[in-house]
Amino acid sequence: MLSYKCPAECRHCMYACSPKWTGDWITVDQLEQFLPQLAKVIRPSPYGPQYMSLNHGLHFSGGEPFLNFELLLKAVEIAEALRIPSTFVETNCFWCKNDKLTRERLQALKEKGLKGVMISVNPFYAEYVPFERTDRCIRTSQEVFGANMMVYQLEYYRMFKRLGITGRLSIDQYLKLTLGESLSDTVELFLMGRATEKLKGLYPSHPSKRFFNTPCQPDFLRSWHNHFDNYGNFMPGYCGGISLGSWFELDRLVKKGIDLENRPVLKHLVSEDMKGLLDFALDMGYPELSEGYVSKCHLCLDIRKYLASSEDFEELKPIQFYEQLK
Ligand code: SF4
Ligand code: SF4
Repeated sequence: MLSYKCPAECRHCMYACSPKWTGDWITVDQLEQFLPQLAKVIRPSPYGPQYMSLNHGLHFSGGEPFLNFELLLKAVEIAEALRIPSTFVETNCFWCKNDKLTRERLQALKEKGLKGVMISVNPFYAEYVPFERTDRCIRTSQEVFGANMMVYQLEYYRMFKRLGITGRLSIDQYLKLTLGESLSDTVELFLMGRATEKLKGLYPSHPSKRFFNTPCQPDFLRSWHNHFDNYGNFMPGYCGGISLGSWFELDRLVKKGIDLENRPVLKHLVSEDMKGLLDFALDMGYPELSEGYVSKCHLCLDIRKYLASSEDFEELKPIQFYEQLK
C-alpha cells in the first residue's frame, strides 16, 4: 500500500481509505531499502513470473496508487530490478479521463516492467468514478497487457453493462435498478473495515457469542496475500488496523517472531480468538453493542476501535485507520 489516500471513500473499503487521509506516501528510499527483504518471500503466479494472479506476486495498491503516478512508476522500476515476479497494480480508474492519458500511463508502467492491472468494479466505487472511465481502463489495459488484466469483480462489470450504466451510480440508484437484489448474494463481500459501519443496516445482526467459534475468513494468519503499508505495518491478510510488526524490519521479524508479550490484543486474538479478545476488552470497559454484530470482523473491529481510543497499542496501527472509521 503506497498510501491510504484515495479519491473515493467506498462504503466497503477494508482499509477505510479516503481523500481525508494525510498522504504520507511511502518514499523511494524506503522502497529501495526495504523491498529487497520482501522480494525474497514473494511467490510467482502458478502460470509463471510474467503472469498475474490475485494471491501471488506483488500488487501495488492503496488507497489509489495512480494519485502518485511518479511514485508508482518508480516502485515498479525498483520491483523489476529486484526481479519480483507477477507484479500488478490495482486501480479504481478515476484517472482514466481520456484515451491518450490512459494508454500513456499503462504503457509507461509496462515499459518499467509491470506485468498487469487489476480493475475494481463494484457498486461502492461506482458512487465516485464514472463507469466510462472503468470501461476505458479495461479496454486499454487489454490492449497493453493482454491476458494480464483482471476485473474485480467481473459479475458487477457484466451487471453494469447489462444495465447500461453511465456516469456515477449511487447505492440507492443501484438498489433501485437491481430491485433490491442483495449486494452480495453471489459476489464476494467481506463485512470488515468501513463496511461494518456503512453496510451493517443491510445485514442481520447477532450477539457476540455467535462468532466465538467462527474461523476468520480467510485465515487471519497466512503465508499468502498479506498487506504491507506505507507506515511499515505488516498487516495480516485483509485485517485493516492490525499490525504484526514492521515489514521495514522483515528479516528481524521473521527471525525473532512476533513480540506477543508487548502486543496483548494480538496475543488474545492468536491464542484465544474472539472470546479471548472480547474478555480482555470487557475488562477494559468495552461496552458490547446491544444491537449485535453483522460479522466476526464487525465484532473484532468494534473492540479494536474501543481499545485504540483508550490506549496506545503497538498492534493497532495505523491509528489514522481507526480515526477514519468515525
Ligand atoms: S477505491 Fe479502493 S482504496 Fe479507494 S476507497 Fe474504494 S475500496 Fe478503498
Ligand atoms: S475477525 Fe479480526 S482478525 Fe479475524 S479476519 Fe476479521 S478483522 Fe481479521
